[in-house]
Parts: sequence; structure tokens; C-alpha cells
Amino acid sequence: MAVGRFAPSPTGRLHLGNLRTALVAWLAARAPQRGHRQGPTTTNTFLLRFEDLDTAAVRPEHYHSQRHDLSAIGLDWDGTVIRQSDRLADYDRAVARLTDADLLYPCFCSRKEIREAASAPNLAHAGHHYPGTCRELSSAQRSQRGRTRDPALRLRAGAAVRTFDDLVMGRHRFEIDDFVIKRNDGTPAYHLAVVIDDAAQGVDLVVRADDLLESTSRQLLLYELFDLPPPRYGHVPLVLASNGDRLAKRHGAVTLEDRADRGESPAQVITFLASTLGLFPAEAAAAGETTSPTKLLDRFEFQQLPRQPLTLPAHYLTGSGR
Ligand code: GLU
Repeated sequence: MAVGRFAPSPTGRLHLGNLRTALVAWLAARAPQRGHRQGPTTTNTFLLRFEDLDTAAVRPEHYHSQRHDLSAIGLDWDGTVIRQSDRLADYDRAVARLTDADLLYPCFCSRKEIREAASAPNLAHAGHHYPGTCRELSSAQRSQRGRTRDPALRLRAGAAVRTFDDLVMGRHRFEIDDFVIKRNDGTPAYHLAVVIDDAAQGVDLVVRADDLLESTSRQLLLYELFDLPPPRYGHVPLVLASNGDRLAKRHGAVTLEDRADRGESPAQVITFLASTLGLFPAEAAAAGETTSPTKLLDRFEFQQLPRQPLTLPAHYLTGSGR
């Protein structure tokens, strides 16, 4: 048994990168689990969850468009589709547990202040990590700073280091900075919500894009603090435009709808994506043969997947189609 999931944010139409990750997440969850005895009627579980806590970015029509596009490429899911915006009480309870354990502190820094502090010469090695500015404020300093800005809550991570074996990207090790658990507008932060939800839904196989690879160490620390068993992780390399940017609407025909306007069926899109993952022969795809997620199930193996990002040539995204 595996319980996998896909957890998009309904902020726009899914693009080819999102669909490609969703395909891998679905295959990983639905494929027969190696080393497990499985009868012909046993199915593995695949869940869909909308990560919609960033209400300023959510566009309500995309709850529907994303479900529609996933179905159109042949992906299905089990049970009720969860929305994080319905689960605020659970996140509040989790924040309260961390507060009770004295693991959180108020942080008054703006993004700009953090960027500037982290690029100070003595901290330049810290990259985007939080430099600890508010960690040891006195209570007088806290009430002083609290007059002009509501605080976020940060976790005292103590520069912990976690190592994990990613199913796609191999072994990784990251130092964990003090990261935000609750944002200064009162919204639970992504790392908290994702861990609480994956645990509550029994997810034991997290497949997502590799821009979240480093986040995994933070999330592993949260699993430990909540005394929950962590899932296995597989991070799928990103899809990039020809200039090296992460794929976005402005790069051209990036959604299923855009591809349909060029005369491409969802089956052709999924076949192309499968070929870029090494799951379908590129020559057969070029010759017009198509496949489907179900047909790919038998041959799915994490080890086959590329570890490099996929760069789409400009003509593929902006050319006039076939
Ligand atoms: N909601 C995140 C995204 O759309 C995915 C988070 C996850 O899979 O853990 O990028």
C-alpha cells in the first residue's frame, strides 16, 4: 500500500511542469509497490489536496480548471478533495503545541530586512537562511517592535541538520534555519500545513517538484517535533523555459488549453511528458504513437527518472504547432 498525493495551489491553470509532476505522483502512488505482495484488486491511494492558504493568490475558478485538466490527462484520485482553507483549526492546534513546547518566537522582520541582513558580509554564506535577528529579543524589545508590526512566529530550529534519501534525487543534507510557522497576517505557513495535512491524510509517499527539495529537511524536523512518522519523498526536476526560467504562462503554450489550441490532444501532451521522463520512447512519441497514465503503470520506476531539469525549446512553446 502507498498513499500518495498531488497538492497544487489553485492560483492558475496547471502548466506542463505541474502536469508532469502530477503524472509522476500518480504513477508512484498507483504503480504496483515493489516488494509488497499485492492482489489484483488492491489499489493504492492517490489524493488531491488544494493548498489555498495564500488567499491573495488563489483564483476560485482554478479549483475547477485544475481538477478538469488532471482528469483530462487521465489522472484520477480517491475520496474527498481537501482544501487547506477548511482546516485552519487543525493548524492552530499544531501551532499551539509548538508554542506550549516553547519552540516558537515572534519575528518582526520584513522580507527586505531578512534579505539585507542575510547578505551582510559576515552572513553571506547563509544564502536565504534566516539570520536569527529576532531570536533573542528581550520582552521589552518585543513589545517595542510589536507596536509597528504584527509578528510572524518562527521555529527555533537550532541549526539542526537532516539527511534524507530522495527517491529521485538521491541523498541530500540540509541545515535548517529558523523558519516561519505562522505568517504575520495570521496564516499558517506552508511547511506547517503540509506536514499536518500529509500526516492527517496518512500520506506516506510525497512526490512534488524539486524546488521543494530543501524544504524537506524542515518538514522532517516538524514530523519529529510532532512525533509523527515521516513519508518517503521523491522530487521531480523542474520544467524550464529556454532562457532557464521556471516555466510560466508568459513563455507561451504551457497549459493543456494552450496545447489544444495548437491541435494537440491531452493524450499527445501526456505522451510527450512521459517521453521527457524516460517512460515512453521519444521516437514513438515523435511518430505519433500515444500512451496513457494507466499504460505507463507497469514500467514505472523512480530510478528511471531524470535528475536534471527539463528545458523546453522556445519553438515548442511559441511555434505555430504542427
Ligand atoms: N502547493 C505546493 C505547490 O503547488 C506543493 C506542495 C507540496 O507538494 O508539498 O507547489
